[in-house]
Amino acid sequence: MTGRTIVVLGGGVGGMMATNQLRSRLSREHRIVLIDRNAEHAFAPSFLWLMTGDRQPEQVRRPLKNLLRRGVEFIHAAAEAIDFERRRVVTTSGDYSFDYLIVALGAELAPELVPGVVEGAHSFYTFEGACRLQEAFRAFPGGRIAVVVAAMPYKCPGAPHEAAMLIADYFARRRPAIKAQVHLYTPESQPMPVAGPELGNAVLQMLEKKGIQFHPMHNLVAVDPATKSARFKQGVVNYDLMAVIPPHRAPRLVHEVGLTNAAGWVPVNAQTFETSHERVFAIGDVTAIPIPGRWKPDVPLMLPKAGVFAHDQAEIVAARIAAEIEGRKPTASFCGEGYCMLEAGEDLAGFAYGDFFAQPAPHVKLHQIGKAWHIGKVLLERWWLSPPGWRRGFYGSLLNAGGKMYGIPIKM
Ligand SMILES: Cc1cc2nc3c(=O)[nH]c(=O)nc-3n(C[C@H](O)[C@H](O)[C@H](O)COP(=O)(O)OP(=O)(O)OC[C@H]3O[C@@H](n4cnc5c(N)ncnc54)[C@H](O)[C@@H]3O)c2cc1C
Repeated sequence: MTGRTIVVLGGGVGGMMATNQLRSRLSREHRIVLIDRNAEHAFAPSFLWLMTGDRQPEQVRRPLKNLLRRGVEFIHAAAEAIDFERRRVVTTSGDYSFDYLIVALGAELAPELVPGVVEGAHSFYTFEGACRLQEAFRAFPGGRIAVVVAAMPYKCPGAPHEAAMLIADYFARRRPAIKAQVHLYTPESQPMPVAGPELGNAVLQMLEKKGIQFHPMHNLVAVDPATKSARFKQGVVNYDLMAVIPPHRAPRLVHEVGLTNAAGWVPVNAQTFETSHERVFAIGDVTAIPIPGRWKPDVPLMLPKAGVFAHDQAEIVAARIAAEIEGRKPTASFCGEGYCMLEAGEDLAGFAYGDFFAQPAPHVKLHQIGKAWHIGKVLLERWWLSPPGWRRGFYGSLLNAGGKMYGIPIKM
């Protein structure tokens, strides 16, 4: 067998996991090349703890190369083009030929699409934004805090709700003298609509317990930093501090090379993540994956953009590519199961787990809020930021044992 080259674009959750999985599955005659424009890898779920001051910046990011298995070639460069015919990627640091390509470029944030957001709002959706928000909280004299989902789709459907609860908890417990009222605005009809009305109601109750006012069906049009007002299609509201989940879009490169559909995301086979190009796969937030079941006949659902899915998809694609290269029939396929630990403050969390491919509608259950799920999220963070050689050890064993105890098939 001659050596093959697998190029992975993007070293975030999906790309990093696919790279490491490929390296552990394939012998060294095969090249695994990972290209990312960032030399640092930050664990996005921890941005919420960065925002509340529960983490220091250096606790939630690592040099990407420290998280890669030995024998991976890491190229610190931006991908600029893909030539599917000649099977090569053009980057700011030269061209790379591939036999197999995995596109894991994630979703870009586009705050500039809503006038006034860049100037008038914070965001915990980036590492730097979460750090700045922590400073803003420390200086906050009190008043109305608006957490606003600017547009759909956005990554991690739980994150705005977690953020609202953690912000309420931060002021209630750490700065009780400051009166902060937290409001959550979203274009959605309920919290986490993809998971169905029962789960939505359970999250609503969690928000209510924290005194958070939830405002569904609110479409942000513009923000005026001078008057501290946000204009929604439904009316104008004033705020003292705003944290926005900005509009998301696929990176320019995937549009330019013609990989996207009309909605602007990369359509893939929902079980195998093959794109329309032979031996070219796409995984994670950059993809568009329709869900077979639905809550309303006329409203199609899409698989949420979440790290847990990017991780699972990476393992499946790596297994399929390795099988094909080794002359075996690829059998790994995605079944649509996923989970989410929903931080609620006071070191407590809820845990949603379910089958997003279930019919007639996704079957997702929210487990009773408790400390175990919060500990699970902390362990996941530690596991994720550990060097690959350590992952099978302490944190991985604890996560697997916890999964077994609660009957949840977590495989770390
Ligand atoms: C605040 C917050 C909390 C979250 N919490 C959770 C959670 O609790 N659970 C969960 O499952 N998910 C969570 N998520 C979502 C999760 O982080 C994403 O879904 C996940 O990172 C997607 O993985 P990905 O590999 O598709 O993309 P990413 O992880 O975004 O990686 C994309 C990579 O591509 C690189 N890249 C982009 N363009 C180029 C280019 N042209 N050239 C080279 N490199 C490029 C980027 O630098 C990046 O490293 C959260 C997200 C946020 C923001």
